[in-house]
Amino acid sequence: MFKRIIKPFQEVLLERKLCVGCTSPLEKCRKIGDLSENRKMLECKCKRRFVFDKESNLYQRATFAEEQQILRDIEKGK
Ligand SMILES: [Zn+2]
Repeated sequence: MFKRIIKPFQEVLLERKLCVGCTSPLEKCRKIGDLSENRKMLECKCKRRFVFDKESNLYQRATFAEEQQILRDIEKGK
């Protein structure tokens, strides 16, 4: 038997490739760095950060650890 699962609204927005904060298209986000070959970090105009996974073609909210990794990389590049 399948349970009826109601998805959290944020997940629905991410599936539609929209920012969970301001609902602008994530495709238009500024790229701020690479986490790995297939994972890019993006920053929306509302300052929320997301990770785009090329393999699964999905967006996720960036985790704290991922944000720290990118900030370290940006500092190294200075
Ligand atoms: Zn936004």
